[in-house]
Amino acid sequence: MYDVAIVGYGPAGITAAIYAARRRLKTLLVGELPGGEVLNSGVIENWPGVETTDGITLAQEMVKHLQQHRQQVEIVQSKVLKISKESEQFVLDYGVNKTSQAKAIIYAAGRHPRKLSVPGENEYTNLGVSYCATCDAPLFNDKTVAVVGGGNTGTEAVIALQSIAKKIYLLHIGKQLPADPVLLENITSNKKTEVIVGAKTVRVIGDKVVQALEYEDLASGAVKSIPVDGVFVTIGAIPNTEPVKGLVKLDKWGAIVADRYGRTNQAGFFAAGDVTDTRDAQIIVAAGHGCSAALSVSDYLARNQ
Ligand SMILES: Cc1cc2nc3c(=O)[nH]c(=O)nc-3n(C[C@H](O)[C@H](O)[C@H](O)COP(=O)(O)OP(=O)(O)OC[C@H]3O[C@@H](n4cnc5c(N)ncnc54)[C@H](O)[C@@H]3O)c2cc1C
Repeated sequence: MYDVAIVGYGPAGITAAIYAARRRLKTLLVGELPGGEVLNSGVIENWPGVETTDGITLAQEMVKHLQQHRQQVEIVQSKVLKISKESEQFVLDYGVNKTSQAKAIIYAAGRHPRKLSVPGENEYTNLGVSYCATCDAPLFNDKTVAVVGGGNTGTEAVIALQSIAKKIYLLHIGKQLPADPVLLENITSNKKTEVIVGAKTVRVIGDKVVQALEYEDLASGAVKSIPVDGVFVTIGAIPNTEPVKGLVKLDKWGAIVADRYGRTNQAGFFAAGDVTDTRDAQIIVAAGHGCSAALSVSDYLARNQ
């Protein structure tokens, strides 16, 4: 029986595990992807003390740091299918008859990309449709691509593509791009990029691979088509809360409702990072949440043993 089981191998889970180890808690960390979304974060310029780095390097450094605490933290690279509460303990179910028990949980499973849900999207996923510019931009050398979604992730995708692709369309459903001004300056001054606002994507067209994207011009109602070799979908993310549905309170977007100390409505169940109803999906915020959740667990166990 572990004192605490942490689900998630991103900055929230890793930070929580480091703090739990320093509190000498018997800790289990279960996560699928070591480093989490940091791996896909491209250039990172907002992690204090490091002026600029890339996501892969920062993720590797976080994992290396955690591994120094292996005496206290057992790490299992796996997917958790379900978490339930039996009497006063939590049970983590990995399938194939494998389970673990813990007195407390820190759930830090992040989010996954939201889909457009239009015809052609699933058919051409990995055949031109991508959800990760950092991973797939190099595949579009000298090609024409569309980025759908004008928030920070979309504009960062455009920036990643500007040195690779021949032409980039940035489509946004609203009238104004909601991205940070510092990112927008980068794309509006670039001649390769054409911004189309008030555009609702309706179809991805292809023949074995992507060939075009169809959108509705919301001002006129006209459906227009642009020839593209690739479509990057950057329209937000869905919290990975499937394993805890019914166990803990979620908001209308499916995110875990947690207070600033990571406490939820379920005693002994704490949450951290992008999987919560946080406003700010950022590495530093996720790490801060992980710290607070681990200290909350330490406090909870001290009061309940
Ligand atoms: C393209 C892009 C660029 C970004 N750029 C920046 C940036 O420049 N600066 C910045 O601060 N932030 C940036 N972010 C945001 C940042 O990556 C996230 O806010 C941060 O990684 C969230 O950390 P987390 O630990 O909450 O979740 P994640 O990093 O998403 O980690 C979640 C972990 O949980 C695991 N997991 C999920 N479900 C399960 C399950 N059922 N069982 C077991 N494990 C599971 C995952 O495999 C992963 O290990 C960017 C994000 C993206 C997508």
